[in-house]
Amino acid sequence: MAYSYEAPVSQSLFDRASVVTPGGVNSPVRAFQAVGGTPRFMVSGTGPYLTDADGREYVDLVCSWGPMILGHSHPEVIAAVQEAVSRGTSFGTPGEGEVALAEEIVARIDPVEQVRLVSSGTEATMSAIRLARGFTGRAKVVKFAGCYHGHVDALLAAAGSGVATFGLPDTPGVTGATAGDTIVLPYNDLDAVRAAFAAHPGEIACVITEASPGNMGVVPPADGFNAGLKELCAANGALYISDEVMTGFRTSKAGWYGVDGVRPDLMTFGKVMGGGFPAAAFGGRGDVMAHLAPAGPVYQAGTLSGNPVATAAGLAQLRLLDDAAYAKIDAVSAELRSLVGDALTKEGVAHTVSAASNMFSVFFTDEPVRDYDDAKKQDVFRFTAFFHAMLERGVYLPPSAFESWFVSTAHDERAVERIAAALPAAARAAAEATA
Ligand code: PLP
Repeated sequence: MAYSYEAPVSQSLFDRASVVTPGGVNSPVRAFQAVGGTPRFMVSGTGPYLTDADGREYVDLVCSWGPMILGHSHPEVIAAVQEAVSRGTSFGTPGEGEVALAEEIVARIDPVEQVRLVSSGTEATMSAIRLARGFTGRAKVVKFAGCYHGHVDALLAAAGSGVATFGLPDTPGVTGATAGDTIVLPYNDLDAVRAAFAAHPGEIACVITEASPGNMGVVPPADGFNAGLKELCAANGALYISDEVMTGFRTSKAGWYGVDGVRPDLMTFGKVMGGGFPAAAFGGRGDVMAHLAPAGPVYQAGTLSGNPVATAAGLAQLRLLDDAAYAKIDAVSAELRSLVGDALTKEGVAHTVSAASNMFSVFFTDEPVRDYDDAKKQDVFRFTAFFHAMLERGVYLPPSAFESWFVSTAHDERAVERIAAALPAAARAAAEATA
C-alpha cells in the first residue's frame, strides 16, 4: 500500500532505532507491522492530542493503550509527579505514597482486601498465577483464546493483543512443560470450562480471564459468563482471577467489577492506576494474599515496586476519577461510537462497533463477535485502509484491528469534531479497500 503522506523525521528515528533495537521498538505493536507505514515517534502530549517528531498533531485514541484516562499532561498529575520527584526518585524502603495508593484501591474495589504493588501488568498476572498455584497446591491454569495477560510464559498461548496482531500461533522460548500446564479454551464458552474441570479433577489452580476482553478487539463477556466462571471455580476448589489491567479504574470507578459485580478471588491491575508511570498491582481475598512473602511462603518482590514517583502519579490520577469524570468518558465514547458506525454504514461497510462500557473497537464484519475465532474473521484489510486514512487526517488509532480504542476526560468537542471530519474519507477508504 502506498501512503500519500510522509513522516521523514519519524522515519529517520525508526531507521536509527532499528539498528540498536529489535524491530526498532520496545513493544511489538508500536512498529506498525500490522498496518504498514512509518511508526510515529511522539514528542509531546497535551489533553487529547499527541504531537509527533515531524510536528504533526493527532487526536489520540490510544491514550498510551489505556493509562491516560485524563488525557496527556494533566496539570494535577504533573504537579504530583514534580512534587514527588523533588524528594527523590527511589528509596527501596516502604513509603507513605504506596500505602495511600493501596488504600485507594482497597476502598474502591470491595473484593480487594489486600493488594501488592508491582511495576507492570505482566508482573501482576505472573505473580497472581504463582500465588494461585502456591495457595491451591495445583499446577494447571485455564485461560481463554484471545485474552492477553502480558507476556507471562504460561499465558502466552493463544494470547490476543500483539500476538493476535502478528498472527503468532505461540511463541518460541516457552517450554513444553510450561505450556503443558496451560489449558486454553474458547472465550464465552462455559461448557468448555465445565469440561476442563471434569477432565482435570483437582489439578486446576485457577481460571484467569480478562474481566471484559479488549485484546482481541472489544469482546464483552456474555450475560452470566463471569458469574458462571466464579461458580465453577468455587465448586472445583480453583481460584477465579479477573485481569482488570485494562478495565480497572476505566470501565467504572471500580472497573469491570463495578459493572458486573462478580467477586473474583484475585484481581490484577495496571495502566490507569499508574497515571502513565510503571505501576501495577494484584490483590484480592485476604486469606489468599496472606500466602505472599513476607507474610507467607509464596515469594514475590521488586526493586522498584511502589516507586514513589509512580505511586504519586497513580494516586493523583485516581483521586481525579470521580463519577463526573466517568460520565464524561462514557458520553464521549458513546458519541464516537455512533459517529464511526454512521460513517461506515453510509459507505456500506460491513462492521460491528463493539463496546464494553467506554472501551470500544470496530470489527470489520457484521457477523456477531463472541470469541477470538469470530474476531479473526473480520476484513482486516479494511481496517488497514481506515487506519491510514484517519492517520493522514490527524487521528491516531491503535495500529491493529485487534485492540481497544480509548478516550479520556480531555476528549472535548473540538477533538470529537476533528475525528468526525476525518471519518467520511476513512469510511470511503475502508469501502474501497481490497484484500
Ligand atoms: N493484562 C491485560 C488485560 C492487558 O491488557 C495487558 C497489557 O495490555 C497486560 C495484562 C500486561 O500489562 P503490561 O503491558 O503493563 O505488562
